[in-house]
Amino acid sequence: MNEVKTSTPVTRRDFIKEITVSAAVGAGAAVMSKPVAAARVGSKTHYGMLIDLRRCIGCHACSVSCKAEFDVPLGATRSWVEYVEKGDYPNVSRSFLPRLCNHCSQPACVDVCPTGATWKRKEDGIVVVDPDICIGCKYCLHACPYDARFINPVTGSADKCDFCLHRVEKGLEPSCVNACIGGARVFGDLNDPSSEISRKIATNPVTVLRPEQGTEPNVFYIAADHSDEHTAAAQGRYVRVDTHRRQQERR
Ligand code: SF4
Ligand code: SF4
Ligand code: SF4
Repeated sequence: MNEVKTSTPVTRRDFIKEITVSAAVGAGAAVMSKPVAAARVGSKTHYGMLIDLRRCIGCHACSVSCKAEFDVPLGATRSWVEYVEKGDYPNVSRSFLPRLCNHCSQPACVDVCPTGATWKRKEDGIVVVDPDICIGCKYCLHACPYDARFINPVTGSADKCDFCLHRVEKGLEPSCVNACIGGARVFGDLNDPSSEISRKIATNPVTVLRPEQGTEPNVFYIAADHSDEHTAAAQGRYVRVDTHRRQQERR
């Protein structure tokens, strides 16, 4: 794969060698150069996704197609759909919130990686992981504010959505977009003002997940309910979020 990387990655063998050398000279933990996130401004193409919750029916076709595309192991997910239930009977509602890696412009996961195994591609803004360089240290899992990553039990490396890079490089849409029967998901170039995603973002109020984290997500939502059950409980309101994901709480 012909890719421009933001730093020179080291191999697993190099990393272990560096740790060994550092320990030998009493230098403590190995200190290595860290990748620098690519800025959106100036990049030729910058892919993003828009999910219009007015069209989402919570069918999970996106999650299932992602599972099939990558043969994602049982118990792990690259793409999932949350249910947000709220209100008091009879005034109750349920809405849906599809989730995936946000391919952030300031990706917290990249800065903490000690080996350069994960980076934001300069040519298209997709945040990727190289399993041959990843040592499975989980730093990126803890740094991501969105719980978008997991350790693949088969490869032992960090894993997550990559916007179906193998399909995008062939001019195809990501599998979840292709499978979305509601037509809720739009994928495209945020730097092209004439793209469908740019036009929809320009003409609709959109939100992103947890903007206070400063990561600048590139997955946008229309009409999304970002209600948090802990905040709601503190205010005496009932909100339940079912993540359908390893029975964990939402992040
Ligand atoms: S959502 Fe998480 S894993 Fe994805 S780019 Fe942002 S910080 Fe990294
Ligand atoms: S687990 Fe994450 S932080 Fe650790 S080497 Fe792999 S990609 Fe980098
Ligand atoms: S496939 Fe589309 S309609 Fe179905 S849950 Fe996913 S985003 Fe919603």
